[in-house]
Amino acid sequence: MDDALREILVRSRRVVFFGGAGVSTESGIPDFRSAEGLYRQESGVNYPPEEVMSRSFFLTHPEEFFAYYKTRLVHHDAQPNPAHRGLAHLESTGKLIAVVTQNIDGLHQKAGSKNVLELHGSVQRNYCVDCDKRYPLSFIIASAGVPTCESCSGIVRPDVVLYEEALDPSVWSRAVGTIAQADTLIVGGTSLAVYPAAGLLDFFAGSDLVLINKEPTPADRIATYAIQAPIGEVLGGLGELA
Ligand code: NAD
Ligand code: ZN
Repeated sequence: MDDALREILVRSRRVVFFGGAGVSTESGIPDFRSAEGLYRQESGVNYPPEEVMSRSFFLTHPEEFFAYYKTRLVHHDAQPNPAHRGLAHLESTGKLIAVVTQNIDGLHQKAGSKNVLELHGSVQRNYCVDCDKRYPLSFIIASAGVPTCESCSGIVRPDVVLYEEALDPSVWSRAVGTIAQADTLIVGGTSLAVYPAAGLLDFFAGSDLVLINKEPTPADRIATYAIQAPIGEVLGGLGELA
């Protein structure tokens, strides 16, 4: 694996990983802002993705919301890639204390990570907006059009944070607390353009900030070490650490 990264990890005691959509592109899930990202794809509906994925759009155009959501944001068959697996391994060695993610795909857990803080929720969890009954992702996928509750006919929505919605305060405070305790923060696969998530870097008070991203990010200049490379290649090497 990368020698400088290995050196940092060998001296670290409490590593936290903070990631975004770029962690899952090698699993076949497009990110938002890359050249192949969702912002540059035709949405299939006549609205930009950030508008479709907003609370007001969900409330006023549920059919179009679910048509977009089911085809573009849910990737039921996606599998973890070497980045997810490397992080799960680092947690099993006791060095990594948490993964904080902006992703909603559940792939860190699928790879075996235990302490995963999902800032933006998960496609795996769904609930009825009227009676709160819980549903698995398979229910959303199997539904035609807008998924409705078996008990009360209310709309069943994903437990994901839409634009115009607030983050879950308890997930946020755990993310802040865990980053504040870290001696090494690895930030990867995120453009650091989405707030408040990107603001989490401000809570890091440790010694090594490592950035891994295909393109430059606004935080490269404050990083101890910035790596511009595919994240699976870099974090896949974590499997070698004992
Ligand atoms: P983003 O699309 O803004 O940025 C992704 C970054 O990752 C880009 O800078 C890109 O250069 C980089 N990248 C892409 N593939 C990479 C790779 N293989 N190796 C290294 N770097 C790579 O993503 P963001 O910052 O996470 O913000 C997007 C928002 O969209 C998040 O809030 C997230 O909730 C949501 N989202 C989630 C998923 C998912 O769950 N997988 C997918 C798309 C969007
Ligand atoms: Zn219901």
